[in-house]
Amino acid sequence: MSDSDRVLIIRNLTKRFGEKPVLKGISFEVERGETKVIIGPSGAGKSTLLRCINRLIEPDGGEIIFNGTNILERGVDIRKIRAKIGFVFQHFNLFKHLTALENVKIGLKVVRGMSDEEAEKKAIKALRMVHLEEDAFHKYPAQLSGGQQQRVAIARALAMEPEIILFDEPTSALDPQLAGEVLDVMRELAKKKVTMLVVTHEIGFALNAADEVLFFYDGVIWEKGKPEEILYNPKRKETREFLKRIA
Ligand code: ADP
Ligand code: MG
Repeated sequence: MSDSDRVLIIRNLTKRFGEKPVLKGISFEVERGETKVIIGPSGAGKSTLLRCINRLIEPDGGEIIFNGTNILERGVDIRKIRAKIGFVFQHFNLFKHLTALENVKIGLKVVRGMSDEEAEKKAIKALRMVHLEEDAFHKYPAQLSGGQQQRVAIARALAMEPEIILFDEPTSALDPQLAGEVLDVMRELAKKKVTMLVVTHEIGFALNAADEVLFFYDGVIWEKGKPEEILYNPKRKETREFLKRIA
């Protein structure tokens, strides 16, 4: 595999908060077009890992090679890097005073410098990709369901044409039906070979969309492999116990 096939290479990443080590030497890679799913108990360090990848949190050590650049090196323009990394959070994080369409347009105009017309075209395309209903385009977040809001957040990420989209428990604040519509969109993106790193407890999604599943436990990758291996036939006791708990 050549380096250009890997969007992300993480080597021996470490982070502690005070005395508490939270990432204890994490290494893995994400290939272009791949969907990688991270599962694991609360407090294992999953969100910390995702936040290190766009340096919302500064790691203590290790390397994060994004598209061939070690983004932890001095002199790296992190804003440029962030423009190429999509992030979808548990709580949507839309701008409340902007409509769905405006939420998707704003990054295109401010970060990418597009004209209003160009941004509008691109935003509409992205909103259609996540199957947002046309009558919701001009509504404000408070007028949308949680599932619609999260789909707008995904459209906002997609419109920027990122190299990778990071998802941090994108459906855990949603009722099952609304979670389902978001997961359907994510499955379609996986099929279209959008590169995704997804923290989720949705085992069904992991089984049919993930190329690989990482089980995170106590700041390390405890076990990883093909989805069926990890989810149906895990080797380690901690993985089995976690899966039993969330079943
Ligand atoms: P997960 O997403 O797997 O539930 P987190 O990455 O959120 O885990 O948290 C891992 C550990 O780091 C937890 O013990 C949490 O309390 C701690 N932690 C996370 N963020 C901070 C912070 N900003 N300051 C101090 N401790 C933190
Ligand atoms: Mg978390």
